[in-house]
Amino acid sequence: MKEIRNFIDGEFAATGRWFDKLAPYDGKVIGRVAEAGRADVDAAVKAARAALLGPWGQLSVSDRVDLLYAVADEIERRFEDFVDAEMTDIGQPAHFIRHVDVPRGAANFKVFADVIKNVPGEFFEMATPDGRGSLNYSLRRPVGVVAVICPWNLPFLLMTWKLGPAMACGNTVVVKPSEETPQAAALLGEVMNAVGIPRGVFNVVHGFGPDAAGEFLTTHPQVGAITFTGETRTGAAIMKAAADGARPVSLEMGGKNAAIVFADCDMDAAIEGTLRSCFANCGQVCLGTERVYVERPIHDEFVARLKAAVEKLQPGLPADPSSGMGPLISQDHRHKVLSYYRKAVEEGATVVTGGGVPDMPDALRGGWWIQPTIWTGLPDAATVLREEIFGPCCHIAPFDTEEEVLLRANDNPYGLASAVWTGNLQRTHRVAAALEAGIVWVNSWFLRDLRTPFGGAKQSGIGREGGVHSLEFYTELKNVCIKL
Ligand code: NAD
Repeated sequence: MKEIRNFIDGEFAATGRWFDKLAPYDGKVIGRVAEAGRADVDAAVKAARAALLGPWGQLSVSDRVDLLYAVADEIERRFEDFVDAEMTDIGQPAHFIRHVDVPRGAANFKVFADVIKNVPGEFFEMATPDGRGSLNYSLRRPVGVVAVICPWNLPFLLMTWKLGPAMACGNTVVVKPSEETPQAAALLGEVMNAVGIPRGVFNVVHGFGPDAAGEFLTTHPQVGAITFTGETRTGAAIMKAAADGARPVSLEMGGKNAAIVFADCDMDAAIEGTLRSCFANCGQVCLGTERVYVERPIHDEFVARLKAAVEKLQPGLPADPSSGMGPLISQDHRHKVLSYYRKAVEEGATVVTGGGVPDMPDALRGGWWIQPTIWTGLPDAATVLREEIFGPCCHIAPFDTEEEVLLRANDNPYGLASAVWTGNLQRTHRVAAALEAGIVWVNSWFLRDLRTPFGGAKQSGIGREGGVHSLEFYTELKNVCIKL
């Protein structure tokens, strides 16, 4: 039984209340987690503020960069510990966690160390009436204590995606991991101590959202900026909290992403990419596809081939190399996803495959397993085509023209990501420009260069992070004017 504690001012701490952490694959308690109360959150923010004004704030950029490289190296040294933490927290196949989640954790520190090392400044000479002139140059300074509020779906990848740039820019942080996935953040505390990150630079408070650790943190007056990943509804609540004190927010929120498959595509690649984008991580990827539009001449073949591929996905334990899919994260989440499965049928869907709960061996019956599901036959106004489900499911609909499919793909309140499958270069550029989404993948999915801007359009996000774009949020740009 693990004990997972808060990490405040360089020390692991627990002050009384605990909650259980359950394994998604069998529903059994695997550990208990210290819940941070208001006083713990206050202590974490104060420690972060003190570190900002103290040793961390005094470090040169190159010393900070060296320390971030050391964090990345230590993550790589403890790679299997992070794999184990993520496997037991989210229950997904080890090969997915080894190839996607944990390597990105280390990369997030390295990439932003490189960004901050290489960022250019600006410099202007200006004439003055006395003829001596003045010099202006810009300085990037930290915004202060950054609150990092994280979701559960790719816990380590998404948390470090915020920590890397925040720390590279010289800020100090207080992280609130999801209550479902506390382990990687706690391990990261050990990493920070091992490499000599000064006390108070990195803090972790565990617990829930409303009227709990999340809200205590986002409403704390000494928090300088809030970066959030999660549901759009939560993002809106956090934006309201940030309005007190007029603090900046960066919000990465929900999606209802469309894939558009044209008849001139490479069908094998489109099937493989759509399979991953709908079902990887049991469909719990913000960038995943839930709406698939296929040009009519290849629609029936596409449905048949995707169905065959999905039916080969075997549910299994994370460490089992034959496992093609893990369970959903929690009982509540399965309840929500199954309610959409029922709604789809009520609204007239044809269930091509799945639609329920798989029959699992006795030892795993307590887990939150679910069948990957494909529907056809729904009108665009159907609930499962409008709302984010965040489960292993998609609806496939035929289309006839480019103009028509663009209207249908854009007719949604979300605008996070899209995937387009086509062999036509001119169409690629037309469609990529017209889609209302922060990211458009063409003939690919989930290919990420961390120097590129990342974020959502419409209700999927506010702001862009990635490469130099992260500097806009994590630094205050200051002008220094010197009269000569
Ligand atoms: P969630 O919004 O329920 O929770 C996210 C975090 O916010 C958790 O740590 C939670 O405890 C905290 N929280 C909840 N209410 C709060 C409040 N009032 N004040 C402060 N903190 C609060 O999201 P989730 O269920 O953990 O994650 C799934 C969602 O995240 C999906 O909608 C998915 O699309 C989205 N997501 C988006 C991206 C992206 O990059 N755009 C990436 C991953 C996940």
